Amino acid sequence: MEKTYDAVIVGAGTAGLTAAIYGARAGLDLLVLEKSYPGGQIIYAPHIENIPGFRSVSGVDFIEGLADQVKRLGVKIMTEQVTETCFVLEPKRIITKKNEYRAKSVIIAAGAEKRKIGCPGEEKFTGRGVSYCASCDGAFYSGKDVCVVGGGNTAFDDAVYLAKTASAVHIIHRSDNFRGNTKTYEFLKGQPNVNFITHTTVTKINGGSSVESVETDTKGKTDTLPVSAVFVAVGTAPASEIFSGVSTDNGGYIIAGEDCRTNIPGVYAAGDIRTKSLRQVVTAANDGAVAISSLLSDIAATH
Ligand code: NAP
Repeated sequence: MEKTYDAVIVGAGTAGLTAAIYGARAGLDLLVLEKSYPGGQIIYAPHIENIPGFRSVSGVDFIEGLADQVKRLGVKIMTEQVTETCFVLEPKRIITKKNEYRAKSVIIAAGAEKRKIGCPGEEKFTGRGVSYCASCDGAFYSGKDVCVVGGGNTAFDDAVYLAKTASAVHIIHRSDNFRGNTKTYEFLKGQPNVNFITHTTVTKINGGSSVESVETDTKGKTDTLPVSAVFVAVGTAPASEIFSGVSTDNGGYIIAGEDCRTNIPGVYAAGDIRTKSLRQVVTAANDGAVAISSLLSDIAATH
């Protein structure tokens, strides 16, 4: 007879790992499945300054501490990509490339993936000048001209990081309305090697063996900007397609209230994958704790 977990947690970002802590402390038999390495989007953040108790911490350091805390509680984090789920059967099935797991409950904390610009050349030059992680790849472009596409906090953080070593950082944004925080915007405005290009989209990325320039469109006026790298920071999209039967909104985010309950009994959504107004480390952690609380209430209600 195959083992049935009390709950399988899909995703080892802040939400999933917090759920693991709360679940383990409540005595649940848990398994965490993560397709790559723990952390989710947070590993791209070089400095996080809005987590209570940390003046400044890198995403990698924060998540290492969290993953270590989970492992010390005896919860296994398996590196396996979930490819399919079946929530109509009881116990529920979670299928990966290697195994099929059974669980009474499932916490979906699979987060979101980096959104693409979708222009010609983006895919071709990924890894050869097109990057989705400034703190991972920025050092390769020391002394070179680079651009960052986007106007949110990720774009701003990337620009701050890149401006330390690149000769010029062009921030290309499709409007002049920035989502990133004002303090960082003012800081960037004061940097001699940072240049804001607004009302502009990147329409094509050109190069030979690596990126050499981007073509842009500013209210119908086209231009070519020589750059050695394009850092894409245009937000994220939820990784929700594999969770069959779970209701999502038009953007693919799983519809669940603050209690993290989805339309399927025993299935909870936590963190960036859930419909919510604020996607931050603290709100992801909150969801992880609340999802376990809802799960425990639901178990209690059936006994
Ligand atoms: P975001 O806040 O969703 O911003 C995405 C940016 O990309 C927006 O400026 C958006 O423009 C633009 N954009 C979207 N699709 C585009 C496209 N196809 N072409 C060109 N531009 C496009 O995403 P994010 O910056 O990755 O941040 C995600 C969440 O994490 C946010 O809640 C953010 O505050 C948080 N975060 C926080 C920190 C921090 O606190 N230090 C650091 C990083 C991220 P429009 O505005 O026109 O839609």
